[in-house]
Amino acid sequence: MSGMYLNIEEIRKDFPILKQEVYGKPLVYLDNAATTQKPLPVIRKIEEVYSTINANIHRGVHRLSQLATESHEEARKTVQEYINAASSNEIIFTRGATESINLIASSFCKSQCRPGDEIILTTMEHHANIVPWQLQEDNTGIKIQVVPVTEKGEIHLEDIEELISSKTRLISLTHISNVLGTINPVSDVIKLAHNYNIPVLLDAAQSVQHIPIDVQSLNCDFLAFSSHKMYGPTGIGILYGKEQWLEKLPPYQGGGEMIAHVSFQKTTFNELPFKFEAGTPDYVGSTALAEAIHYINNIGLSSINQYEKHLLDYATRKLSLIDGMQIIGTSEHKSSVISFLVGGIHPYDMGMLLDRLGIAVRTGHHCAQPLMEVFGIEGTLRASFAFYNTEEEIDILVAGIEKVAKMLS
Ligand code: PLP
Repeated sequence: MSGMYLNIEEIRKDFPILKQEVYGKPLVYLDNAATTQKPLPVIRKIEEVYSTINANIHRGVHRLSQLATESHEEARKTVQEYINAASSNEIIFTRGATESINLIASSFCKSQCRPGDEIILTTMEHHANIVPWQLQEDNTGIKIQVVPVTEKGEIHLEDIEELISSKTRLISLTHISNVLGTINPVSDVIKLAHNYNIPVLLDAAQSVQHIPIDVQSLNCDFLAFSSHKMYGPTGIGILYGKEQWLEKLPPYQGGGEMIAHVSFQKTTFNELPFKFEAGTPDYVGSTALAEAIHYINNIGLSSINQYEKHLLDYATRKLSLIDGMQIIGTSEHKSSVISFLVGGIHPYDMGMLLDRLGIAVRTGHHCAQPLMEVFGIEGTLRASFAFYNTEEEIDILVAGIEKVAKMLS
């Protein structure tokens, strides 16, 4: 095994799914940017909550409800510590990065924007950070301004500054591109934006599992991410917001939990963070997400980052040797995501045949059609690595691509 910095062989034992065979071949799972696999402690935690403390939280006086509430609120603190938020009031549980961004788009535009005000996005955004703002173009009359992406797959601060005007209300951008792997210079973007008193939302769906994030030193105003991309369960995610911002924004959804008092004359809302958490929260998911964070912390995010960088370098070197290989996204600042095309082969054909060899890669536009348009392509293949991947798996991918390319040419 190729664990230069981590004991990958031991780590892989924690992920039962990785032992599987697909079409009689050992599974090579390289679709981690779409979702990550779950370690046993996370899987067991879900079973444990349902088997021992399951009860609806917050409203119950009985023992189980108290235990489930404690577990959920403890999870909030674990998330708070993971991103170094100043207060657990700044951690809102959502369904995922998508819902987190929709929440801000809706509440922010409704309360902070007038028709004609502008929101700045970049061309490399996932649809989750485009469409919620487009809905607000219709709902509140805001306009979207788009930062261009260079051939290498980077954004330039000058281009952002050029788009900033007296109408700019917010900049929302991805920390790491799910297609290009580019790590954006978000700290500089935030400093620039704050010079103009403009808040920044970071889409951290592709970064929070790879690089340490400290929201206080980054000084971002909002941050969104999903549990399932960081070894936690599906269906739960996080919105971080600075307390002074979250205090200012109106609720996103109405229902139980988010109220202080309800009457047909006047309803008042609960305090943070509950103001933004209508309905029964996913207390099983939050508890299991906290377990995923403990798992990451036990390995160490900086060791994970170092090892994944090694995998990225190794894969880039090996893939580049393949005839007709075109890597989309060649920034020097990249995370462990490689998008590529081989000769004139359609990514879907290549992806299907790789699947037959047990290799799981993603094909298509990766929910980033405007970016595809810039590169003049319909889609790519994408291999994305996690800390449980190995050099051997990259060798299998390379051999698989060569085999499929020969078959199709
Ligand atoms: N933002 C980025 C950069 C992503 O890669 C994704 C998912 O692929 C999302 C947002 C949306 O995440 P989710 O579908 O978990 O809400």
